[in-house]
Amino acid sequence: MYPTKYHKANSLEQAFELYKSSQDASFLSGGHTLLPVMKQGLAAPSDLIDLSFIDELKGIEVTPQTVVISSMTRHMEVAGNKDVIRAVPCLAALAGSIGDRQVRFKGTIGGSLANNDPAADYPAGFLGLGGHVETNLRSIAAEEFFVSMFQTALKPGEIIKRVHLSIAKSAGYAKFRAAAARYSMVGVFVARTELGTRVAVTGAGQSGVYREKSLEAALDQKFDATSLESIQISPQDLIEDMHASSVYRANLIKVLAKHAVLNMGGIVNLK
Ligand SMILES: Cc1cc2nc3c(=O)[nH]c(=O)nc-3n(C[C@H](O)[C@H](O)[C@H](O)COP(=O)(O)OP(=O)(O)OC[C@H]3O[C@@H](n4cnc5c(N)ncnc54)[C@H](O)[C@@H]3O)c2cc1C
Repeated sequence: MYPTKYHKANSLEQAFELYKSSQDASFLSGGHTLLPVMKQGLAAPSDLIDLSFIDELKGIEVTPQTVVISSMTRHMEVAGNKDVIRAVPCLAALAGSIGDRQVRFKGTIGGSLANNDPAADYPAGFLGLGGHVETNLRSIAAEEFFVSMFQTALKPGEIIKRVHLSIAKSAGYAKFRAAAARYSMVGVFVARTELGTRVAVTGAGQSGVYREKSLEAALDQKFDATSLESIQISPQDLIEDMHASSVYRANLIKVLAKHAVLNMGGIVNLK
């Protein structure tokens, strides 16, 4: 590692001011992605602005329409929150399926969404349920938030304050983990909402998480796993890597979508 300056921010305003007065700062939440990439030399921020002492960025609130999760909320807190379990059980199960205990103890929803790893689980849950991200500057809809792999609509110095997720009539998530990394090789989140079915796919798209409209249309015709039989997912824009070919991933999307539909309210975690 190379020298970097650590700052403890006590408020959102202070974090933003520190960012503006730094040369090339990064916000630090759980550090579960940022610190490893710094160790590998893939990121070299001049300053680290620690968000973990800002009370405003902690907590969960569930209203009749939304689950609002503050950005510094750790995965284990979402997994164990009784109100989230009651409102969207599948979201709590998704959080509880991320990484291992250490990852869930430090990793945060804000860090996960801001990082936008193409195989991360929260992006699928957020895009699947719909809603918006509230930052220190504005509100960004789920549809506009994810730009490409590891890229979001966040501007320099923009801090995620809260994530507002719409409560669906029901939701299900199914994922197939890559053997070594344990991240999802593919994950499919299905939500039945007042406005129709939403299907978000992680781990497969070359531009990161995306909505698979062909599956949504089929499920809107008839919400049943058999409706997906005739759908062919094109491998054209899917990831091809050492874990799986794009053709394999295309098939996996359909298989996992069926698992999700058959297990609405829960999660299917295929090893
Ligand atoms: C071994 C391991 C296994 C994992 N397995 C999984 C898995 O199976 N599924 C999965 O989904 N994830 C997995 N993760 C990722 C993990 O869940 C973390 O959510 C993710 O690494 C982000 O970490 P963090 O919250 O500590 O953010 P950090 O590493 O602190 O930050 C990540 C990025 O987000 C920015 N950032 C952080 N907070 C904010 C904010 N509030 N506003 C704006 N920008 C912000 C930072 O500047 C940085 O660029 C794994 C990680 C590890 C190390």
